[in-house]
Amino acid sequence: MKRIVGALWIILAGSGVFVPVADAAPLRTAGDRPADILHLKLDLNVNIPLERARGTATIRLRALRDLPSVRFDAVDFDVRAVTVARNGGPAHEADFINDGESITVLFDRALKRGEEAVVTIAYSVTKPKQGLHFFHPTVSDPDTPYQVWSQGESIENRYWVPCFDHPNEMQTTEMIVTVEEGYEAVSNGRLISKKDNGDGTVTFHWLQDQPHVAYLITLVVGKFHVAKETWRGKPVLYYVPPDKKEMVQRTFEHTVDLLEYFSNRIGVEYPWDKYAQICAEQFGGGMENTSATTLGSWILHDERAHLDYSADGLIAHEMAHQWFGDLVTCRDWAHVWLNEGFASFMEPVWYEHHLGKDEYDYAIYQDMQAAIRGGKKRPIVDRFYEDPDDMFDSRAYPKGSSVLHMLRRRVGDELFWTSVRTYLTRYAHQPVETWQFRRVFEEVTGRSLERFFYDWTERPGAPELEFRFDWDASENLAELAFKQTQKEDAFEIPVEVEFRFDEGEPIVVRRTMTGKSLRVWYPLPSYPRMVLLDPRDAVLKELTVEKDRPLWEHQLFEAPYVTARIRAAKHFAKAGGDKNAALLGEALQQESFWGVGEEIAKALGKAGGDAARDALLKGLALKHPKVRRACVEQLASFHQDEKVIAAVRDLLEKGDPSYRVEAEAIRTYGKLQPDGAVSFLMPFLKRDSHRDQIRAAVLTALGDLADPQALPTLIEWSTNGKQRFTRSAAVRALGKMAEEAELSDEQIDRIVELVTDRLRIEKSRWLRGACLDTLEKLRRDARSALPVLRDVAANDPERRVRKRAKAVIKAIRQAEPPAAQVDDLAKELESLKKQNRRLRRRLEKLEGRLERGVPAENKVSAHASHAPQQEK
Ligand SMILES: [Zn+2]
Repeated sequence: MKRIVGALWIILAGSGVFVPVADAAPLRTAGDRPADILHLKLDLNVNIPLERARGTATIRLRALRDLPSVRFDAVDFDVRAVTVARNGGPAHEADFINDGESITVLFDRALKRGEEAVVTIAYSVTKPKQGLHFFHPTVSDPDTPYQVWSQGESIENRYWVPCFDHPNEMQTTEMIVTVEEGYEAVSNGRLISKKDNGDGTVTFHWLQDQPHVAYLITLVVGKFHVAKETWRGKPVLYYVPPDKKEMVQRTFEHTVDLLEYFSNRIGVEYPWDKYAQICAEQFGGGMENTSATTLGSWILHDERAHLDYSADGLIAHEMAHQWFGDLVTCRDWAHVWLNEGFASFMEPVWYEHHLGKDEYDYAIYQDMQAAIRGGKKRPIVDRFYEDPDDMFDSRAYPKGSSVLHMLRRRVGDELFWTSVRTYLTRYAHQPVETWQFRRVFEEVTGRSLERFFYDWTERPGAPELEFRFDWDASENLAELAFKQTQKEDAFEIPVEVEFRFDEGEPIVVRRTMTGKSLRVWYPLPSYPRMVLLDPRDAVLKELTVEKDRPLWEHQLFEAPYVTARIRAAKHFAKAGGDKNAALLGEALQQESFWGVGEEIAKALGKAGGDAARDALLKGLALKHPKVRRACVEQLASFHQDEKVIAAVRDLLEKGDPSYRVEAEAIRTYGKLQPDGAVSFLMPFLKRDSHRDQIRAAVLTALGDLADPQALPTLIEWSTNGKQRFTRSAAVRALGKMAEEAELSDEQIDRIVELVTDRLRIEKSRWLRGACLDTLEKLRRDARSALPVLRDVAANDPERRVRKRAKAVIKAIRQAEPPAAQVDDLAKELESLKKQNRRLRRRLEKLEGRLERGVPAENKVSAHASHAPQQEK
């Protein structure tokens, strides 16, 4: 799964208030499996306007021990009947307990170990809170098409599929779906049949005859244009909104190449019967359901966006999961990095093949930066978590990718890919833990990797490495001093220094650093031209380097490695001053790779001063749009600088071929705060662009300008019927405006009312996240939003949103005078009491039923069999 980084992600990371502290999170282990689920068949009728799926689940299972009953995860199901057929015999109605979280099927006599049973559950789910998402036109989005998609990961398919919802259970599955004529229904595996029922409905029958875990079960229903290719005889399908069909080729241009390349590189052929990519309405990122990946329809793009936007990274990520995550699956979420780290790592692997080594290096560099930022507190393999979703963070993704890259460097390409192939072959269709992955690498390479995996998956953080180069001219002796300065124990790391000279071949010195410090003396033929530490980025680290200025200069212009040039740029930015900024400007003009160009632009922004400004202005004419975008972004820090204002204005008047450059220029213009900016920017609201990025940029800029005359515009663009990306930008801009502009009480009240309203009605969690951010900015002015906030905190279907709402309530409360707080607490206590009474009644009812139906011991074991319970 890949969630596209949105504001909600970021804020949540920072809001520790109601988030239980990590240490208090419970210890999680893989779920208990009382039975082996052999096959799960769903026969469903899907009614989109009613938001209902109704039908029968047929589950064939074999008892792994004597079982008086079996329990399936199933949240908020309406169950009509349950039958059980034992060992191929006739089906009989069976007693069951449906407690709102699960369905426990009671066998008339215990199912013996090894016995098989077929359980059928006739049920319906209506407006499920999670798992199966229904879309249709609404007041806020009248153009929304009728559509349904499922999202199972991490533990959400239990809202519409009765199953063992833990990643250690694999079964074959079948999906028979009846929908209105004219709709497509896509699911896992191969299409067995599509039948016209002659009554205005059609029935699709899909079969996944290779075992996979429950969270990978998918269903998407909607009106799609379906484009087809084939690869090695298998269908490759693209389901897209009919009005975007001309974007298929451009967006998915590399899908077939990727299937071919990954199959060859990994050494295991793509394992499923087809590969479909479905572009779904309001889908956040991508989800790797076996053979049928769901993607956000926003990835479809026009020719202009294609200048500097490609969906390849996301497409490669989800496709890589078809092996890593789908063919082998983490046994528990504690090991989810085996899914997400690999999928993230395979993105650079594709770039390396398709675009070259620099692209791989830069992508890994970015992963490593994110891994350092996000990996400081908890290890990658972490058994203590509140909710499985908490494991999907920068440890699983960029740090996981960085660890795989380090492992690749450690064992070498050939052994790395041989080990990967062995791992996938040995554990195909099985759940895995990190030690199993390690053991395969040890077996294939003969290396002991216990320390490597201890350092990188079982402990948090990364070494803080100081490196100093000194030169003894009398003896032509290089002195290399390495120090790990983190307060935690030393990491065992390879250190590699590459010396390059004016003439002749480079010399490479390699040592292993096992303690906190290491000194090496090494004779060289002459004083080097460059001294490059860890040139191939074999180690994740925070690095400080001391060496002579000429070495840095040569490195900036001539180093053959992307990260070496970036490090040199950062060095000169930190040193500051016009001379260094001018040097960076020269490097920017000469740089051949856009990624380094982007980093030099950032370095210039950090350096500041006239020379940096002039270098960035000159950078606006560079050929690569990503570099131009980075330059215009950095110019925002030159507040009210007339020269910058004139240049950005000029850029906007003339236009840029790239949407992203124009959008960035608009945001920068807002931050520069020039006179008359509001009226200058207004006409850009008429411009269409991919993901409405230009309009959204104008609204963001209007918020930054904090000019009350723009208030009606922001209000207008945050309302029903406006595009969602735009509404989100407008709501955020209202927060900025409320914070910084001088507004009347009436104006503030109007904003609070409007944003509270949106929080109530917005279906997209991103938009509700934007509303929450804005209300938090309004603090005590947002008191009138408290009842709605409380409702969201208690009942929002998204756990992240509920958590965030609690934090916002707290922020508003803290800004209040104490008397008001007491008043609120009294109200809250009253509502808790009511809730408590309701819960007690429900519990008493359940206990009554349990006493009638199930032995007490069984209640416990059935409940304990599936560790993580989604809080409601
Ligand atoms: Zn993923």
